[in-house]
Amino acid sequence: MRLILLGGPGAGKGTQAAFITQRYGIPQVSTGDMLRAAVKAGTPLGLAAKQIMDRGDLVSDDIIIGLVKERIKAPDCARGFLFDGFPRTIPQADALGAMLAQKGLKLDAVIEITADADTLVARVATRAKETGGARADDDAQVVRKRLDVYRELTEPLVTYYKGKGLLKTVDGMQPVNEVTAAIRHALGA
Ligand code: AMP
Repeated sequence: MRLILLGGPGAGKGTQAAFITQRYGIPQVSTGDMLRAAVKAGTPLGLAAKQIMDRGDLVSDDIIIGLVKERIKAPDCARGFLFDGFPRTIPQADALGAMLAQKGLKLDAVIEITADADTLVARVATRAKETGGARADDDAQVVRKRLDVYRELTEPLVTYYKGKGLLKTVDGMQPVNEVTAAIRHALGA
């Protein structure tokens, strides 16, 4: 199963990813997690990415595409994967399509989790409190910026994947277990 989870900051992608990866026995591939690991390890990539992430902007397409290309070569991706936070731009989506086509593979579905802006901001604020501000980009002003970036650069992917007949939209304003049920239903799982 090759899936993409789409949704703004705080939409519940990480939470729902847990169920999906378990159900299908596929790894969650979170480019945000990969970048945070690079920041923590102090690699050149991490050093370059940190400032960009801290202000809520996107890391360059080339870097992200390179990371994903390597990641999906790993044996655990042989049965599929769930992308969380990737692709975030049309060029990333095009690159992913090309990567998969080269391997003779296709995406199975793109799950969009929707929620209104105020809810997203409030949820991230709760996460920031619960995690003791572990993520610098969970700061309220940065979250607004991440939302703007999402609307401008990532939301066009909704139309992009709708056009390919892959989009499944789920209402992320419902309680967590109902969102899970809706995703399960959308995937026929
Ligand atoms: P996330 O954990 O998905 O919310 O990502 C945290 C931050 O990492 C984002 O705000 C971006 O700065 C960066 N990032 C993660 N994934 C991508 C991506 N696919 N393209 C560009 N930047 C990304």
